[in-house]
Formats: sequence, structure tokens, C-alpha cells
Amino acid sequence: MELEGKTIIVTGASSGIGAAAASLFAEEGANVILGARRSAELESLAERIKGSGGNATWLAGDVRDQNYSEALVELALKEYGELDGAFNNAGIVGDMSPVPEMQIDNWHDVLGINLTAAFFAAKAQIPVFRKQGHGSIVFTSSFVGFSNGGMSGMGAYAASKAGLIGLAQSLATEHASEGIRVNALLPGGTVTPAGGEGNPDVLAYIADLHPMKRMASAAEIAQAALFLLSDRSSFMTGSPMIVDGGMSVRLA
Ligand code: NAP
Repeated sequence: MELEGKTIIVTGASSGIGAAAASLFAEEGANVILGARRSAELESLAERIKGSGGNATWLAGDVRDQNYSEALVELALKEYGELDGAFNNAGIVGDMSPVPEMQIDNWHDVLGINLTAAFFAAKAQIPVFRKQGHGSIVFTSSFVGFSNGGMSGMGAYAASKAGLIGLAQSLATEHASEGIRVNALLPGGTVTPAGGEGNPDVLAYIADLHPMKRMASAAEIAQAALFLLSDRSSFMTGSPMIVDGGMSVRLA
């Protein structure tokens, strides 16, 4: 039990990597607070976790709303008395137009959901971690935050995911001496709705970019998030942890 008795917020828990991570964290003994916009999906995941003997609660909302980040923290404290970690994972790919054709609304959506929401999350979570003297934050960046794999149309998404690495490193520096660790997880292509699930041509194209010639499962990426949130990674902070089937090595 890697997370026995710990309370962890997971955003993007209605689908894909977040849902897989929340289930895994609960199996590993965590009390999980599930966040995303779709309440039916959150409720059903919470019921499944509780049905398997775990502890879960949920609150639907939009991560672009600063109040929502604060409400998730308040819920964790109300339900479980403490907050030990957060997997700030919600994200979108958005419109993949080249920049000259990209609409400003898309830029704001992608940056707002992927990056500004992480800033709101950290602002809500770090004061609690400071009081407790411990806490671990993981942001879901992407291999695209490091290198876009030669794919075009990544202007907004890549900027948001590279920004998360910078945010994680800044927070890591500012709070390392307070027992707070902040890391970025950089998954490669992962079979989820955002990763092309249900579209065999997209999945084959993305799989082929990876030296392993396959994509990750959400469960594999969840294992990396578990490592970063658990005490097994106790000397890691400010790290961009790449879990990408060799994609970034191919491009180096
Ligand atoms: P997914 O299955 O589409 O899940 C995205 C999650 O984000 C959903 O739970 C969604 O919930 C939530 N979300 C999106 N916008 C939100 C908003 N405004 N407010 C609250 N929640 C919101 O995709 P995924 O692949 O698991 O993505 C998870 C993270 O991994 C993302 O940050 C993504 O960029 C990153 N990533 C994915 C891949 C990949 O190949 N799949 C690779 C690298 C990184 P609701 O729709 O219910 O709000």
C-alpha cells in the first residue's frame, strides 16, 4: 500500500489517465478526491472505488475557475482532515491548427485548462502543504512539453505543457525546504479519448512515432503518477519525468 491513509486530489478523473490514476491510488490505500466537469462519470467512479473497499469523494467543476481548486482542497480537508498530494492532470489537446490559422479562443482554452488551472491548483494546495510540512504535487505535462515528436499543430498545447514544466520547477525551488515536492509527468501517446481512442488511424499514427511502436495504457501512466506521489520518489522535485516509450530518445 504505497499511499496508505493519504488524501490525494485527482483532476481529470472522469476519463483516461485521471480515472486510471484515481483507481490505482485508491487501491494503494489513498482517499481520493475526484475532480472534472462530468458529474455522472465522477459519481460512477467513486461508487466503483467504494464498492472495491476504497475511499472516494467527488466534486464536479471547471478547473478554469479558481474557486473550484479551492473547493477541492476544502472538500479534502472536510472529508479526511488532511491533504497529502494532488495529481493536477485535467487537460485538453484543443484545435491543432498551425498558429497563423489558430483562433485566439482556442489558445485561451488550452492555456487556461492546461496551465492557468495548474497555477490555481498550486495556489490552493500549497498553503495546506506548508502548514502540514509535507505535500506532493504532480502536473501532467506531456512529451510534447519537451519535444513535439515532429507533429505540427502543437502551438498552444506544446506551450501549455512546456509551461507546466517551468511551473513545476519554480514551485519546486520555492518550496523544497518546506517538505513540498512538485514534479511534472511527461507521458508519451496514451490510449485515452484525448489520445485518439476509438480512431484506429490516429492510434496507429501515434503508436508508430514511438520506438516501442505502441502507445501507453492509462494504467501505465498511472503507475508513474503513483511513484511521484508516493514516498518512493522522496528525493525527486522539479523533475520532468518522461514516460514515453522512447519517443524523446528517438528525437534527441
Ligand atoms: P481524457 O481522457 O480526455 O481526460 C481529460 C480529463 O480532463 C477529463 O477527465 C476531463 O473531464 C478533464 N477536463 C478537461 N477539461 C476540463 C475542465 N475545463 N475542467 C475540469 N476538468 C477538465 O485525456 P487524457 O489523455 O486522460 O488526459 C489527461 C492528461 O494527460 C491531460 O493533461 C493530457 O494533456 C495529458 N496527456 C495525454 C496524453 C495522451 O496521449 N492521451 C499524452 C500526454 C499527456 P471533463 O470532460 O469531465 O471535464
